[in-house]
Amino acid sequence: MSQHATAHVSGHYIGGEWIDGHGSVTFESENPATGESLATFRRGTAADVDAALAAAEDAFEEWRSLSYIDRAEYLWDIYHELRDRHAELGEIVSRECGKEISEGKADVTEAWHMVEWAAGNARHPHGDVVPSEVAGKDSYMRRKPRGVVSCITPWNFPVAIPFWHMAIALVEGNTVVWKPAEQTPWCGQIIAEMFEDAGIPDGVFNMVQGYGDAGSALVDDSRVDTVLFTGSAEVGHEIADTVGGEPGKLAACEMGGKNGIIVTEDADLDIAVHSAVMSSFKTTGQRCVSAERLIVHTDVYDEFKARFVEIAEDIAVGDPLEASTFMGPAIEADHVAKIRSHNELAVEEGAEVLVDRFELEAAEIPDGHAEGHWVGPFVYEIEYDGDLRCLNEECFGPHVALLEYDGDVERALEIHNDTPYGLAGAIISEDYRQLNAFRDRADVGLAYANLPCIGAEVQLPFGGVKKSGNGYPSAREAIEAVTERTAWTMNNSTEIE
Ligand code: NAD
Repeated sequence: MSQHATAHVSGHYIGGEWIDGHGSVTFESENPATGESLATFRRGTAADVDAALAAAEDAFEEWRSLSYIDRAEYLWDIYHELRDRHAELGEIVSRECGKEISEGKADVTEAWHMVEWAAGNARHPHGDVVPSEVAGKDSYMRRKPRGVVSCITPWNFPVAIPFWHMAIALVEGNTVVWKPAEQTPWCGQIIAEMFEDAGIPDGVFNMVQGYGDAGSALVDDSRVDTVLFTGSAEVGHEIADTVGGEPGKLAACEMGGKNGIIVTEDADLDIAVHSAVMSSFKTTGQRCVSAERLIVHTDVYDEFKARFVEIAEDIAVGDPLEASTFMGPAIEADHVAKIRSHNELAVEEGAEVLVDRFELEAAEIPDGHAEGHWVGPFVYEIEYDGDLRCLNEECFGPHVALLEYDGDVERALEIHNDTPYGLAGAIISEDYRQLNAFRDRADVGLAYANLPCIGAEVQLPFGGVKKSGNGYPSAREAIEAVTERTAWTMNNSTEIE
């Protein structure tokens, strides 16, 4: 962060204009693979948030009076732009958050899937016709927008997640103030430019760049009707607590996980090893659904371990723009320190380390990338004990525990469910009874069978239970958070009741 302006400093998009805002502090978007600065941005203040909320409030009445289909038209423009600029935007995602290039592009693809879903939803029924007890009386449930929606998003899906929140909020007739993550302001700038290019009416979409203090201002203000948040449990629970104390305000928060994969005694080990590698190491373990606990039946434990360890020892960590790379860097220096502390904690708690590539060899770091935030896989085995912090706290890195179990699927589920989180989990098994037991009793919102635990299609609910979720800020379920219901009862007869 710096106090001085560099050649070009990008600002905030408020009320249909690009403005510098009230603060003098700027910050850099950094390429985590090289440490180079990509661009400079103004750090938003509470006064900037105030201006954005005022613009959103002013724009609300006119925006809500448009038809769903007219509102969706603006999003269809953005849908086409996301598709037309797929390769270019995918590379920007990759450069700004270090995701390997195919994942950078996948982030853009997921964004257009969500925009397509939300804009298409404008042509679907909204509400219910409910039978009345009285002939001649009509009863309906109708929906109306709540008003001003704050959207606060994380860095790890810097294009898709903002559209999870904003596309549906806008189509339903709300106006929006969005704060992108401080690590990915460049993606934030591009998305704001897309709304500008689409000609969305002034004040309907607003974007304030900045850190947690700007996010906090977006939560606390009484003009905000709904907060949609995706990010860490620490911040999400703080937001849910604040909003819970304000009558009439709603929050839908999606948070992290300590996700597990169960490998049963009859599992296809090709599927099991592939699923574990993808779930633990893709995006350098920095997905909310990444697996950090592999719960493997004793009958197949040794073979699974040998195969998993062999791949982890060899996995290609490197330049995210190279197609041969499997894992890019961690997002920032502070996050490298956090991953280190989780690895150290596991060792303190008795881990037997199987793979330690946390500090990469100099030869593994690509030329010109010495300043990148490099980390490699860290794999350990440990005897299961529900009190161990290393088995309960999200690392959000390529850090994974192997846990051996003996017994039936009930025992595996007992270990699987024994964490405060409940976002995602998978089972690898050939036995439909064990698969069904997992489907029915795994304490997660996202459950996978014979698949990596890695993402979900946008038409499915995306969310967790326990510490991982507090409402759904995306797709169909988000409609609950961004609309009010009206129970409309109408007497069509001349009878006086
Ligand atoms: P984070 O919680 O640090 O930040 C998320 C956003 O909240 C950022 O925009 C940040 O500036 C803002 N923020 C920070 N403090 C705030 C405050 N006090 N009030 C309001 N806003 C504040 O998370 P991150 O590091 O960007 O993302 C990683 C976390 O997100 C991981 O825990 C991961 O599991 C989780 N995540 C969850 C999902 C999901 O759908 N469940 C998806 C992606 C990431």
